[in-house]
Amino acid sequence: MTDDAPSNLPQLGQWQGPDDLQRLQEKQLPQTVTWAARSPFYRKWLKSATALPTTPADLAALPLTTKQDLRDNYPFGMLGVPKERLATYHESSGTAGRPTPSYYTAEDWTDLAERFARKWIGISAEDVFLVRTPYALLLTGHLAHAAGRLHGATVVPGDNRSLAMPYARVVRVMHDLGVTLTWSVPTECLIWAASAAAAGHRSDVDFPALRALFVGGEPLTDARRKRISRLWGVPVIEEYGSTETGSLAGECQNGRMHLWSDRALFEVYDPATGNVSAEGDGQLVVTPLYREAMPLLRYNLEDNVSVSYDDCACGWQLPTVRVLGRSAFGYQVGAAKVTQHRLEELVFSLPETYGVVFWRARAEPAALRIEIEVAQEHRAAAEAELAASIKAAYGVDSDVAGLAPGTLVPNEALTGMSDVVKPRSLFGPDEDWGKALLYY
Ligand code: AMP
Ligand code: MG
Ligand code: ZN
Repeated sequence: MTDDAPSNLPQLGQWQGPDDLQRLQEKQLPQTVTWAARSPFYRKWLKSATALPTTPADLAALPLTTKQDLRDNYPFGMLGVPKERLATYHESSGTAGRPTPSYYTAEDWTDLAERFARKWIGISAEDVFLVRTPYALLLTGHLAHAAGRLHGATVVPGDNRSLAMPYARVVRVMHDLGVTLTWSVPTECLIWAASAAAAGHRSDVDFPALRALFVGGEPLTDARRKRISRLWGVPVIEEYGSTETGSLAGECQNGRMHLWSDRALFEVYDPATGNVSAEGDGQLVVTPLYREAMPLLRYNLEDNVSVSYDDCACGWQLPTVRVLGRSAFGYQVGAAKVTQHRLEELVFSLPETYGVVFWRARAEPAALRIEIEVAQEHRAAAEAELAASIKAAYGVDSDVAGLAPGTLVPNEALTGMSDVVKPRSLFGPDEDWGKALLYY
């Protein structure tokens, strides 16, 4: 028995079109605002209002909530429930300094898990689901874990920042357990393929149970996605979200990412003009409709996105989003601005037989320096073709160096299997006691 009966929150297929969807949102919004008014942070804002905002139009009168607001109110300044009701506490990935906190109740977790579980390929009790994103502080690992559990899948908690789970162990688990689904950043899927090859497996045939790779967390070009998909012989299904919000969008069978607008209100903010609109290009602003522990009204994720209300044949009746993230961010080389996004496309557009998947580049004032891992027999061709496509795309010179496989991603990282030991104080005469206290 699985407990995957849907909750009474909105479910895909329950609305007929934009008007219907808007009715769903408007029905929930007063509750959302009431919850927000319980948090010390929003109480300040809402106190001055003669009446609480109850429509999206009212909401538009409120200022945006920023990441800085979250940091300034670390840890519990945005708490909207008694602390005893909290189920989990998280912090966003990021640099040192004040953390960006977020926290959820058990009820909030129903909304979170259901949103993540909206995968067109489905998640069921037959699935063996490898979760290969961090569990420490971040939401992502726990989110996928909860979504898998919700649908009765066998969840394999793999993490990706744990010494207990080197790549060789990921591949062993995927192979021996018959993993059917995985969740990771896209880069992981490329490293697994190399690690599988190092273990003597062919990634596209020796993992027959695998059904799909769920990915998210970093920008992904079409060229790289297609390569990953062919390496493993399964669809790559993308997801967009954050620790502060959970899953915000997921991919439909037609390859488009849809915003979960039944569970949150979305706006697009143009920082240059201060204008806010329902669609177009700008920073994504979100008002999650179903969360109590840390309500957010008009939270600016500061991710560059493009939102569209064009029809999609999938029938979900939800707006679509393209996440540009920081892909617009680039470095100057000569007269051109070089972005990672465009470069990635060029690298992954090299003929597949060259096997180029690992690369790095450095933008220097006069030329782009780029290193690719490539086998000797394809080296000259890969170098020449990449230099030519960079010249064609940017009009700049590049210095492309083909390196032996194992240079950028060392073989040791693909095959190494570290001991995971427990702390110990007494050792024998011939044993290394260097790991006595700092045992990892
Ligand atoms: P975190 O704050 O660690 O939870 O990471 C969330 C951030 O990762 C988002 O705000 C985005 O900048 C980025 N991100 C997540 N999913 C995607 C995606 N599918 N494409 C591009 N960027 C993404
Ligand atoms: Mg973040
Ligand atoms: Zn669609």
